Amino acid sequence: MVISSQPYEASVDLASPNRNLAPLSTRLDGEGHLQVGGCRLSDLARCYGTPLYVLDEATLRATCAAYRQALERHYPGPALAIYASKANSSLAITALVASEGLGLDAVSAGELITALEGGMPAERIVLHGNNKSLEELALAAQQGVTVVLDNWRDIELLSALAPGLAEPVRLMLRFTPGIECHTHEYIRTGHLDSKFGFDPDQLETVLRHLAGCSWGRLTGLHAHIGSQIFELQPHRDLAGVMADALQLARSLGHPVSDLNVGGGLGIRYVTSDDPPSIDAWVAAVATAVVEACRTRDLALPRLLCEPGRSLVATAGVTLYTIGSRKEIPGLRTYLSVDGGMSDNPRPITYGSLYTAVLADRPAAEATETVTLAGKHCESGDVLLKDVALPPATSGEVIAVMATGAYNTSMGSNYNRIPRPAAVLVHDGQADLVQRREQPEDLLRYDVLPARLTPVV
Ligand SMILES: *Cc1c(COP(=O)(O)O)cnc(C)c1O
Repeated sequence: MVISSQPYEASVDLASPNRNLAPLSTRLDGEGHLQVGGCRLSDLARCYGTPLYVLDEATLRATCAAYRQALERHYPGPALAIYASKANSSLAITALVASEGLGLDAVSAGELITALEGGMPAERIVLHGNNKSLEELALAAQQGVTVVLDNWRDIELLSALAPGLAEPVRLMLRFTPGIECHTHEYIRTGHLDSKFGFDPDQLETVLRHLAGCSWGRLTGLHAHIGSQIFELQPHRDLAGVMADALQLARSLGHPVSDLNVGGGLGIRYVTSDDPPSIDAWVAAVATAVVEACRTRDLALPRLLCEPGRSLVATAGVTLYTIGSRKEIPGLRTYLSVDGGMSDNPRPITYGSLYTAVLADRPAAEATETVTLAGKHCESGDVLLKDVALPPATSGEVIAVMATGAYNTSMGSNYNRIPRPAAVLVHDGQADLVQRREQPEDLLRYDVLPARLTPVV
């Protein structure tokens, strides 16, 4: 990442936060140190320890506003952006997203409870999942959360719960649209060979079945084609497929008012990534839905979309302290940091690339090639491979950019490493939003049977 001594804002695209490598509020202070949200990153590292997740409130609010405003600008009907909270689920992010007027997707009881406790109104929450438990469905139904039917078992379980329900459940139906897109195999969901949603061949059968159901009201259709997608065409194609389904559902008497086109917009992790802006993505989706409805003579549905990554990724920076250095002459130089695959499993899972910068010398010349390794017992625990950095010494703080999505939410305790803390920064203030896990927390769920208790 190039951060010159020019004001950092000069290189930032304010209207498209997902196209920036760093949070919107990133600045160089008078001494050339990197600041986010008015807080010097190395001060945050000293105060809260490392690894540390830093979340920029300004970027989070800007991405929410970008979706909200783009939907207003490009879609003539009602619309709502729904945050896919699996990207980063916490009370603070929920409260912030709720205050921006967005809705929220949950895929488990844990995410659902976080959403409700974080103040997201139940009528703006959607429960997804390809294997929901009876308890998860009961919680959603009792709270008035919309349930996305993914398969026949959801229908069986809900109809078993029905006699105890005061109100019919609001339902959406997820189907596989049969659309291929270019992204990592693990995060493609729109192709036919997917574990998610009803097969398109079954659509009519399910719709007919639900037409006679007393315990639920089908008010929406859902499809999601994948994640970290840079192309617009698959999203345009999806509109036609969904409009066909909408026509079918309405012809069978379902009061379907919501068309939920999923998420998937990519972000910039490294300079060479070139995702569309949020505005361009919404424009493409909205225009395609309007056009698909016009050609089929369908009344415009409410347009729902479900951004995860593009809503939170660029708001996040992870701070690490550099520790050991290993030089293998003629081969590679390893710099190790105090975290790794437990706080950011994306590189080892997907081969994902990232951008890193020294927090106190972001403008220093990058004269050596190093591999930034984690501290876990896996050779594959590498955060950045063979990247150009200024010669760094142990004790320096390094910031890895665009870690706001699918980092803490996919994290683990591998090697019994406690989970990092998270702080939300804004106007020079840092608020702790997730406490650092302590070694004793790691023992909380261990049980030592009495017969194995050491005798002292
Ligand atoms: C993961 C997911 C999303 C969000 O995807 P992003 O690529 O993070 O925007 C939206 N909807 C569903 C159903 C998902 O599974």
